[in-house]
Parts: sequence; structure tokens; C-alpha cells
Amino acid sequence: MTGVLRRVSIVLMAAFLLVALGPGMTVPAAAGHQEYGVRGVWLWGSTVRESGAEAIAKDLEANHVNVVFLLVRGTAGTAGYKSGLAPLADPNRDALAEMIAACHPRGIEVHAWFVFNQDKAYTDAHPEERLWHRGKPDTGHKPYEITDGRVCPDSQAHLEYTNAMIREVLENYDVDGIHLDYIRYGHVVFCFCPHHYEKAESLSIDIERVREAIGKTFYDGPWGKADPQYIFNAYEDEAYPEHRDVKAWMDMRADEVRDAVESMRSVVKQLKPNAAFSASLMPEGALADSRTYALCHYAQRYCDAELYDFICPMAYHADYGKTPAWVGTVTQGAIAESNGKPRVYAGIQAYGKVTPQDLADAVKAARAAGADGFVLFRYGEVSTEEWSAINEALGEIGR
Ligand SMILES: [Zn+2]
Repeated sequence: MTGVLRRVSIVLMAAFLLVALGPGMTVPAAAGHQEYGVRGVWLWGSTVRESGAEAIAKDLEANHVNVVFLLVRGTAGTAGYKSGLAPLADPNRDALAEMIAACHPRGIEVHAWFVFNQDKAYTDAHPEERLWHRGKPDTGHKPYEITDGRVCPDSQAHLEYTNAMIREVLENYDVDGIHLDYIRYGHVVFCFCPHHYEKAESLSIDIERVREAIGKTFYDGPWGKADPQYIFNAYEDEAYPEHRDVKAWMDMRADEVRDAVESMRSVVKQLKPNAAFSASLMPEGALADSRTYALCHYAQRYCDAELYDFICPMAYHADYGKTPAWVGTVTQGAIAESNGKPRVYAGIQAYGKVTPQDLADAVKAARAAGADGFVLFRYGEVSTEEWSAINEALGEIGR
């Protein structure tokens, strides 16, 4: 950086700090967005119960965070609010009410964050709604049910239950939005539950051909050595014997995810039209070279993201062995693939092997690529040094 540029940056940063740290400044959340863009964090209910909402909100305010995504139903299926439907995470605490009371006076939005496809409390009570694996060599390639809480993503009963919880939150809490997570399949080997067998038949899909193509991808067998690219090639290439069934099956799964999103969206928009409806999405579907991979594994399509007010592509660069610049690549792809319809807030990795400089670079890369903001995963993983680096980066880029 040249001396002149450095001086300009320092002046900009000083101006930013004066504005941001001015005494008694309380900017309404909406105005804050316009001026600075969204700066969000994902936050666990357990963190609220341990650290206290007031202390967290104070810390968020000091670091110019203007949106919080509070986990109200995680993979265990317990509720982080006073629910009449799900077992409570802690009967003596209401993390959602506590966070709203602490955040709203400070101009910080609170969005209720729901995990969709894993819900241990629910599947323990309703084992018939569980997710089923395609089958491995040690099950004689026979499908088997998963018992860790994962739900068949096409379970209409679980969707209705989730809608009832969303309704419950919207009716009883002044939340600023509903945020979905795990709104996808976890892997291409799912789901071969009895319901999906019936569904495949009704759609004239030969489910055994699909299972065979998955088998050829992961396991050695009568077909020879496993070919890790097989199922993806079979989806794309008509020359593969399973092409027609694999394509119909994968498109069916993606349609299921879209239908579930539409159903939840209509609940949100009917009850509280101004509440934002959003989701965190896997990053691969944003990139041309991994779009088929993303479709076959996750059944998640960025072209369906028009159903959301905003999306957060989880561009967790360190987990993917990439540099922070990759956050910009994913952001760009997400904006292009979703046709610019939803706002895009880059999901940034703050856990594991990341440095303060990484976070600063990731925030800058997101901004340069046209993101409307960023969300850090997660509050509790961001050190004082990392917050400083982020704030310094934001000062340099003028917001
Ligand atoms: Zn199923």
C-alpha cells in the first residue's frame, strides 16, 4: 500500500470509528443496514444461557453487529423459547425473549434460527419419519434407518410440525425474521425410507437403478471398483444406463426442498409480512464446477433462492482448504446463481484455524464481491483480536 493510500485509509477508519463509536449512538436496525450493511452473528441458545443476553448484546453493540441469528431449534430438537410443542432446552430460561429484550433497544435485530432436517426429539417420538440410508455392504446393501435424529426431508408430518413452531414463534415473540438451516439433504445416499419407495413408484422412477448408481459411486461390487464420479456423471450424461432415473430422482429431491421452503415461507409471510425469511445454504451450488455435486448431495438449488429475502452461503474457507478470497468467489456465484433476487450475506468461518487477518480479508472479499453483508459463525468463537481486525477492515472499506 502506498503512503497516500495508507493515509486515506487511516482517515477513513478514523471517520468510521468516530461515527460508529459516538456516544449514545443508537441507530435503528434498518438505518444501520443502509449505512453499514448487515453484520451478523449466529448464536447458540446455550451461549445465551451461559453468558447472559445483556452481556452478549453489549458486546455485539460494541462490535457494531446489527443482526443476530439465535438458534431456537437445533439438531436435538429442543426449543430455546417457551414452546408448547417441543421439549424445552431449559425450562427456567427463555433465550429468545431474553435476547429480544436485550437487543431491540440497541437496534439489533433478532432472527429465530431453525435447523430443518435433524430433530432428535421429534424422531424419537415419531420414528416413522426418520431418514433412511441407501444401504452399505455391511447391511447387504439393504436400506436402513438413521437413528441420530435425522428426518426424511420429505416428511410432511415434520414439515407441519416445523410450521407450527414457526407460527408459535411469530405469534408470541417480536422476532425480525425466521432463518432456516439444514434445509437440504445431507448426502446423496439419502433417503430410501418406505415413503420414498412409494413416491418413486408413483413417479415411475426405478429406485433400484438409482441405488445401483449410488452403489457404483461408493462401493466396490459386481460392477467393479467404486467410481467416485459415477452418480454425478449419470445425472449429467444420457449415455449412462441409469441417467433417466437418476435425473428424475435428484430433481424430485430438489423439488421437495423447494416445496418445503415455499410452505414455510407462506406461514411467515401470512403471519408477519415484514419478517424476513432466510436460509443458510451450502456453498457448492453457487459455483459452476460443483453445481451437479451440490444438487445430487444436498438437493439445494440457488435458483430457488428467490423464495428467500436473503441467503447466507456458508463460505467456510478454512474447512474447504481455501483462502479467505474464496468468500468473494462464493459470494459472486451466489449473487449470479440466485439471479440477484435475494440479498446475499456471506457466511464467514470464525471457528477453527482462522486468524484475525483471515477474518479481515474474508469481510473485505465479501464486500468487494457485492455482498449485502456478512454473518460470522459463530458468536463465542470470535476473539477480541478478531473483532478488532474486522472493525479495522470495515473502517478501511468505508462501512
Ligand atoms: Zn424418505
